[in-house]
Amino acid sequence: MSAPEHHEVEVDLFGDPIAPPDPGAATRGRRGAVAAAQWQAWLNDADLVARYRASIHWRGPSACAYWLSSISSSGHGKFRLGSHTDDSRRVVTAHLIGYQLHRGVLPDALGDVVIGHTCDEPSCQNVFHMEVISRAENDADYRRRKNRWPLSDVRGAQGRALALREAIRSALDNGSDVESALGEANAAGRPHPPADTLF
Ligand SMILES: [Zn+2]
Repeated sequence: MSAPEHHEVEVDLFGDPIAPPDPGAATRGRRGAVAAAQWQAWLNDADLVARYRASIHWRGPSACAYWLSSISSSGHGKFRLGSHTDDSRRVVTAHLIGYQLHRGVLPDALGDVVIGHTCDEPSCQNVFHMEVISRAENDADYRRRKNRWPLSDVRGAQGRALALREAIRSALDNGSDVESALGEANAAGRPHPPADTLF
């Protein structure tokens, strides 16, 4: 049984709370209201980047790389940066760091875009599974795919991400096979087959 996640409001660069995503966007990425210059400053920080990388479970170049730290209500990885002392403390969506680290910081003038997951796994940090996409397109993608695996996971986006995280963590802790643990955690979220209609 996993510990309940500590409730925390995500804030933008100016400290205003970021509204929870629409149900239609719940499992997809948001860029967040952080200016390009601020992203670049964060990404130039080697300690920050090392801390980001240490929170990911890598399984190979084409596999989903699941986030092992805090998970948001929408199933995304959360990453804390900045400090309380100079009021720069922020929580950002983890995969926005990974994407911009590998592909470059997105310019401020890009408009209303998000970094979406083509794998539909919001906690995934594999940059090859991410794309820059307009919010409208991302929402439409979600509506098209929401009844398909893995978006159809009965545990919901956050429940799924937490279950996968716990499977990896405990397998690593007790030296058992991570891939079998992930296989079981996956299977546990499959929609139930239709009820028996013999009667
Ligand atoms: Zn993925």
